[in-house]
Amino acid sequence: MKTGINHLFIPGPTNVPERVRQAMNVPMQDMRAPDFGDLTKPLFAGLKNILRTETGTVFMFPGSGTGAWEAAITNTLNPGDKVLMSRFGQFSHLWHEMAERLGLDVHVIDVEWGRGVPVEDYAAVLAADGAHAIKAVFATHNETATGVSSDIEGVRKALDFSGHPAMLFVDGVSAVGSIDFRMDDWGVDLIVTGSQKGLMLPAGLGVLGVSAKALEASKSARMRRAYFEFADMLKLNGDGYFPYTPPTQLFHGLRVSLKMILEEEGLDNVIARHARLAEGVRRGVAAWGLKICAQPGFESDTVTTIMVPEGVDAVKVIRTGYDAYNTSFGSGLARLAGKAFRIGHLGDLNEGMCLTALSVAGMALRDNGAMIDTGAGVAAASEYYREARAGAAAKMAAE
Ligand SMILES: *Cc1c(COP(=O)(O)O)cnc(C)c1O
Repeated sequence: MKTGINHLFIPGPTNVPERVRQAMNVPMQDMRAPDFGDLTKPLFAGLKNILRTETGTVFMFPGSGTGAWEAAITNTLNPGDKVLMSRFGQFSHLWHEMAERLGLDVHVIDVEWGRGVPVEDYAAVLAADGAHAIKAVFATHNETATGVSSDIEGVRKALDFSGHPAMLFVDGVSAVGSIDFRMDDWGVDLIVTGSQKGLMLPAGLGVLGVSAKALEASKSARMRRAYFEFADMLKLNGDGYFPYTPPTQLFHGLRVSLKMILEEEGLDNVIARHARLAEGVRRGVAAWGLKICAQPGFESDTVTTIMVPEGVDAVKVIRTGYDAYNTSFGSGLARLAGKAFRIGHLGDLNEGMCLTALSVAGMALRDNGAMIDTGAGVAAASEYYREARAGAAAKMAAE
């Protein structure tokens, strides 16, 4: 018998704010009605603000982030095209696998898990490709399996430095709307995200931001595609319509979540909050004497992957959290199975929630044989949160 609420600390789906849930509880409506665009057109505009693009085109496909990955590739590339990718966790691994399945000629760089996109290696490969055989460079902005963030601006600089014309594809599924992302400033040609992470919605929307250059490429790209055809969407999206039944409920939710992010809290403040909450979690883990998977400089502000001590089974830690304390943590994926668990700290979240995550994780670790000082995690994080708040208040007073 479980009482109280289930604390959800997985890195997606994330907690959906009550207001967003309520906003989705509306009767079905006519998706061809003359005023349907009143609902949908502002969503495209709002998503452009989230992606920080003025020149890009936004697509919303029914589907999840994985579908948007596929849309990005199939709309803009040709079978056999050479592309540059790197693998350093389960999500970058899966995107690579998809690229192979779709018939791309992938130059993949394997990177130690805990680090991110190998910007210097990319620069070397691009500089050596004088014939410009590489058509696209892929980067996973936030590797959700390892809790690692990558330097996307650095990848853009590597392209610019060698004057390489390849398109830049970014997986921003667990980054967009939570950590700093700038489509136009960083010259990103295809950014992919989904509804169930930073956008605080249920799964069901695959969102893409497409540059003018990538849109141009889509006109001649020969890879097979049908459902995910950009051109079909473009024909109708301008007036707020879709070529097939769109998930209207999600649009109602998105309207509210965009308002919360862009108008009420403000995107910069959302990003600052994620940085603050993440730092508290990391300090809590450090106070237990445990390591995180991310190496210094690569730490993600949306998810922390915690390595359990030798002899402790992370699967059991997660199970205890769920069974005994009604709390969900993310599991260790692929080679991290049993060795790590993840605290997702993105979306609709505050200090008290992060302290709950640390207190339950501390208990579950101790229950499964980790010789840690259970309360030390909460103590370190709460001190940090208090200081950060005092610092922010002082800064505001000085301004
Ligand atoms: C969640 C996630 C995906 C997969 O998205 P789905 O919506 O589950 O298809 C892809 N990439 C990253 C980095 C993710 O975090």
